[in-house]
Amino acid sequence: MEKHLLTAIVPCFNEEENVPYFYEEFLKNKPFLEGRGIDYELIYVDDGSSDGTAKAVRALVAKDQNVRLLSFSRNFGKEAAMYAGLQNARGDYVSIMDADLQDPPSLLPEMFGYLDEGYDQVATRRVNRTGEPPVRSFFARRFYHLINRYSKTEIVDGSRDFRLMTRPVVDAILEVSEYNRFSKGIFSWVGFRTKWIAYENIERTHGKTKWSFWSLFGYAIDGIVAYSTVPLTISAFMGILLCFIAILMIIFIIIRKLAFGDPTPGWPSMVCIILLVSGLQLLSIGIIGEYLSKTYLEVKNRPIYIVKEDTAADEKTPRVGIPGGAPDRKNTKQTYGK
Ligand code: UDP
Ligand code: MG
Repeated sequence: MEKHLLTAIVPCFNEEENVPYFYEEFLKNKPFLEGRGIDYELIYVDDGSSDGTAKAVRALVAKDQNVRLLSFSRNFGKEAAMYAGLQNARGDYVSIMDADLQDPPSLLPEMFGYLDEGYDQVATRRVNRTGEPPVRSFFARRFYHLINRYSKTEIVDGSRDFRLMTRPVVDAILEVSEYNRFSKGIFSWVGFRTKWIAYENIERTHGKTKWSFWSLFGYAIDGIVAYSTVPLTISAFMGILLCFIAILMIIFIIIRKLAFGDPTPGWPSMVCIILLVSGLQLLSIGIIGEYLSKTYLEVKNRPIYIVKEDTAADEKTPRVGIPGGAPDRKNTKQTYGK
């Protein structure tokens, strides 16, 4: 039987309690994987944790050579952790899963079933938002509504980063070499036949979520700026509209002056108009600034992550994640399992 390899990428930021739990849960799939002739590789990406995450993973590495620790020099964010995992994955199949077991590894057999049906990737979304503060759910819904209305890339409401991909999809994602990564968009942007499966939201096993309301808000702005230029159009449109109104008003005032000789009254209204218009100007500059700042960071071409420790480094292992630096793993499939 031809041997295959499944790489599971687990981004971890201060998840020391969850690391061993996840391992146990994941290993429950072992009989299934063995039945299909699939080996596994488990990459824990320690995203600059300040607790014992790295130590907990090292303990697993010591007893299971299929486990690998990739430790960042500081916290680079989940997007960077996923990118590092994808760049280092050797598998023909790659899956991304949260350490807190909110993405149940028990779904893997079902997901493989869909790959057998001919899908290139299987993505997940949660059908409800149990256990989440109502304000957060409200803004999340507004965000998905907005972005799907104004962007050509579809971003499914409630979609999670949990997915199972085949090698061609992974390579395509690695080709998307942008610094400001918004994976939910990239996964959808690359295309391929995607099967969506839904599951009930599960609350995290240990610890608490790393996302505050404002960090999610910033993430939402990143998503909009990365996948839509409509805000720029809106600010240009507001400018045109205001000019038009101003011209009408000027004509009105001149005619009134000529016909009735009225002095021009209304300081308060003037002040209001000045405030409104300068507010809109600042807003527009702010919107342009958002895009400019993203462009600025993109042009700098900084690494997406920096690796401090890697328990399974080989000559192809990138130490710093330069955008687009997909290591050449094209030969993996042939050499693996011989
Ligand atoms: N995570 C990470 N780096 C970060 C923040 C989070 O690698 O800067 C990981 C975290 O350890 C977890 C996953 O990303 O495995 C999802 O994070 P979390 O559970 O806090 O988010 P939520 O499930 O609430 O959306
Ligand atoms: Mg979580």
